[in-house]
Amino acid sequence: MSLGGAAIALRAYAATLARAALLRDRAALERWRDRRLAQWLRAWAGGARLAELSPLDRHGLMADFARLNQLGLSAEEATAMAEGRAPLPLGYHVGLSTGTTAGRRMPYVISEAERFVWLGTILAKTLGAAALQRPRVAVALPQGSALYDAANRGHALPLCFVSLAEGFDAAQARLIAFRPDVLVAPPRLLHWLALRGAALAPRFLFSAAEMLDPPDRAAIAAGFPKARLGEIYMATEGLFAVSCRYGRLHLAEDCLHFDLEPAGDGTAEAVITDFTRQVQRMARYRTGDLVRPVPCPCGSPLRAVVVAGRASDRMGGHAPDTLRDAILASGAADFRLVQVGEDNPVLSLAPGAETTAPRRAVEALLQRPVKVETRPLALPEGAKLRRVMRCP
Ligand SMILES: [Zn+2]
Repeated sequence: MSLGGAAIALRAYAATLARAALLRDRAALERWRDRRLAQWLRAWAGGARLAELSPLDRHGLMADFARLNQLGLSAEEATAMAEGRAPLPLGYHVGLSTGTTAGRRMPYVISEAERFVWLGTILAKTLGAAALQRPRVAVALPQGSALYDAANRGHALPLCFVSLAEGFDAAQARLIAFRPDVLVAPPRLLHWLALRGAALAPRFLFSAAEMLDPPDRAAIAAGFPKARLGEIYMATEGLFAVSCRYGRLHLAEDCLHFDLEPAGDGTAEAVITDFTRQVQRMARYRTGDLVRPVPCPCGSPLRAVVVAGRASDRMGGHAPDTLRDAILASGAADFRLVQVGEDNPVLSLAPGAETTAPRRAVEALLQRPVKVETRPLALPEGAKLRRVMRCP
């Protein structure tokens, strides 16, 4: 890590802790956020009010990409840079989101400085003052991502970035060699490491970038009984929420503005406006993620949510977590529920599992026949684990 990078990360770390200390109630937080948002709108939206900006989804962002980043790069140019087919502009990084069923991967542009702001912010929100004891932090995420590998060049902090591109065995070997005190990884990897009895003794585990479902939570707790398990809700679009000591995710409303638009089944879609990053503008961006507002006793003025799944994975008007919870409540230890096009959904259960009650639970919600199969339920190494999934 360059000295400049370390200084930027440290300043962002201190600023995040200062905001947490100063913005103690909702009114103070909203006043501060509204002031920052107004500054941002003056700089980037000609002083328009937020409500006057039309919401942008993934397709709109790709189509309008050149207008939305300071460098004026088109989505095609940015993709070529992210894939190494074109040189990067000095001081900037370009990455690609992990692939989804929505098709093309989405590029994003971030400056060197913004990456270190991200790093400092995430350290403050996850570890608080404990970050100053220089814990060994490993971040294991799907692929070489411009956002995260700010961590890798570190001497100021013992940080290690592990790409999952080479598979779980390779990731496990790197993690064991690094001996992290703090491990940030998708829940499917934490689950896999727990089942393997991996020779790791982290004090903190953070499930990141994917939904943490009860089967993963139970396996991780059993495999790492001494570690505290937290959650980080993030995407290439940014850091959206970090869990508190009660395990509830609190939206990063001190960095982004969140509109929670009602999306049925008691959920809301998170629509974000990022007033912290400058290089790529995210104004009223539809994340496609469903969340449920929940109370939290910790006293934070940041709203608490649980992640309910992807809007595009809804079936019969039900959010993925509603279907998941009904299947688990019927006695299944684990499952996959996949619907292709308008076909009847297929419920997969582990060999030997009782199938009637889980099938009835899904059929009662969806009001249509559900096909059941039994097969080993592997933890995918090369793709996100979505237990409830719709494919085009
Ligand atoms: Zn809380």
